[in-house]
Amino acid sequence: MIGEILMEIKESLQVDLRNFFAEKFMYSTDGFSGDLITEVSKHIKKLLQAKCVALYLHDYCNDNFELATSLTYEQKVLKQNLLIDSNNKIIYKSTTNFTILKGCNVFKQPSNFSSFLFPLNFGDSPIGYLFLAVEQDKLSNQSYKKLEGMIDETYKLLNGLGNYSKTMEKANKYELLYRVTTKFHSSINTNDVLTEVIHTLSDVYPHFEYRLYLSQDYKNDTDLPIKELIYNDEFANKSSVQAFQTGNVKMEKDETGLKTRLFAPLKGKQGIYGVLQIISPVDRLFPDSDVEFITLLANTAGNALENAHLYQQSRQLISDLQLINETSHTLNSNLRLSETTAFMNKQITTFFGANEIGFILFKEDDYDLLDGSTKFFLLDESSLFLETIIPTLRSEKESLFIGNFSTKHPDVKMPYHSVMAIPMIQSDQVKGAIVVLHTEPYFYSFETFKLVQSLVHHSTLAFVNSLLREQLEQLVITDYLTKLYSRKYLDERLQEHLLFDKQGAFLLIDIDDFKTINDTFGHDTGDELLIKVANIIENRLGANDFAARWGGEELAVYLPESMLDEAMEVAQELVDRVRQNTNPIITISVGVSYWNSNQPNEMHRLFDRADEALYEAKAKGKNCVVREKVKPLY
Ligand code: GH3
Ligand code: MG
Ligand code: MG
Repeated sequence: MIGEILMEIKESLQVDLRNFFAEKFMYSTDGFSGDLITEVSKHIKKLLQAKCVALYLHDYCNDNFELATSLTYEQKVLKQNLLIDSNNKIIYKSTTNFTILKGCNVFKQPSNFSSFLFPLNFGDSPIGYLFLAVEQDKLSNQSYKKLEGMIDETYKLLNGLGNYSKTMEKANKYELLYRVTTKFHSSINTNDVLTEVIHTLSDVYPHFEYRLYLSQDYKNDTDLPIKELIYNDEFANKSSVQAFQTGNVKMEKDETGLKTRLFAPLKGKQGIYGVLQIISPVDRLFPDSDVEFITLLANTAGNALENAHLYQQSRQLISDLQLINETSHTLNSNLRLSETTAFMNKQITTFFGANEIGFILFKEDDYDLLDGSTKFFLLDESSLFLETIIPTLRSEKESLFIGNFSTKHPDVKMPYHSVMAIPMIQSDQVKGAIVVLHTEPYFYSFETFKLVQSLVHHSTLAFVNSLLREQLEQLVITDYLTKLYSRKYLDERLQEHLLFDKQGAFLLIDIDDFKTINDTFGHDTGDELLIKVANIIENRLGANDFAARWGGEELAVYLPESMLDEAMEVAQELVDRVRQNTNPIITISVGVSYWNSNQPNEMHRLFDRADEALYEAKAKGKNCVVREKVKPLY
């Protein structure tokens, strides 16, 4: 009787199950889902009029076969009695005996049921088992044969479902990968890329642990599981280093032999940016399909990291170029030497941080410290340090980049550890050096060093020009900018007047707030205004009077045989004319001093008194004239 039933079942099963599956396949979006499995089991149970149908599916994480259908009473009993381990060994907890039927295990329970368990193979490895329990008295020996046919059919269909599910899983993974890639390409932020990698993996493999090995220049301000990739260390994780160096995926059991670790290099087109470590809680190696997916994800991440890295690098390059450009531009606008040092000091301190900066000019066998060097260089204790480094800078013409000066030169006591010393080379001659110091050891990165080096190279010409100009100013009698006399010439002429005249007056003139004028309108406008003031002065002077550029924006006038009151008048007129005839409007302050034969007629006293008066004029609010304090004896 059972034979007939089974024949009928077989025929209807083939049609019915096929229809059923076709329909389910069509509408299933997530492959081998729990709901679908339950439906399938129910359907088979109905068709076979079986007492119980259950599907066991391989659980990757625990590496055994778990009951996938929702539990009925019988299945609960089954779950307690039946276990299938990773070697496909069926473990029966209860005392059941069974027989084997063409790859299927048939076992009989002491009750009136016959139970069948048959594997659902996908390739070589079973993806699950189908369990059937049929009432025993309905089964005869010959009906096994027919049952076999029915099982074959079910098996094919389920295997199809398995295949389908695998394909679906793969498609899902690749869809995920596609989504991730799209996201990566729109991101130029390293942290976003790494976060996405970890999130994607946690979605696909929620039971695994993850770690990212990245090189030390990565600043981790996220809560991502990031570790520093150490190469030459006995504590270094060898497999992570191997994956990093070879660019190949590495797989290994952990020390306990209970877990499996996979190391995937984050590989871009130009290099490897780190290693992704995945720890699986089972001791079985990752299947090829997973390795392939993880490798693809790691490569995608590697490419994205490379993009982010290149982007950040190009941003850095642009800002470096801007810095060099801005610095060169400013330095080339004919600054005075003190301004050049002040500007370089500002640039280096603002962009790289520095505790001390020294500007050193090399002489025959000696050196000079230029104005603008910070206070450490003016102390005695700096000389031993400078004498240690200067010979190398001179002879090697090479920069020094020292992370910890005290370990290199323990005999030289110095509060600063990080040292960058860059020679200023012009026409193959070492003119001097710029020395940058910081208390913290290894404070400067190699990139910073290279940038400061390039900044110094670009500024050397400006330095040398300022230096030469100032030296030249000492030699020539006409100032190159204002066309007034040079200070040296004024000194010489004045000396003669003091010797041969009876009286005379001296005016020291300083442009008010000239720094602000330069800062507001630019150095070129500053130069033009300086020339304008010089012309105003020149136009007002008598035939025997003469004016000179005293230095910077300070000018001087000598009025031979002039009385103090006359000189005060001239000075006041200059103040008025400058204010009235300049655009943008600038003002000047003037200090006036006077001598006659009743007074000691030393030149420097005359200068000092004018300087004091000028100081007072500034203190009074500028744009005015002040005469010397000491009332002269007539
Ligand atoms: P004060 O009223 O106190 O004199 O203020 P100030 O800004 O004029 O004085 P300070 O000494 O602080 O600055 C002098 C400025 O004069 C600094 C420098 O930029 C400018 N200067 C000196 N020589 C030249 C030059 O040849 N050309 C131009 N454009 N500027 C110069
Ligand atoms: Mg001044
Ligand atoms: Mg001034």
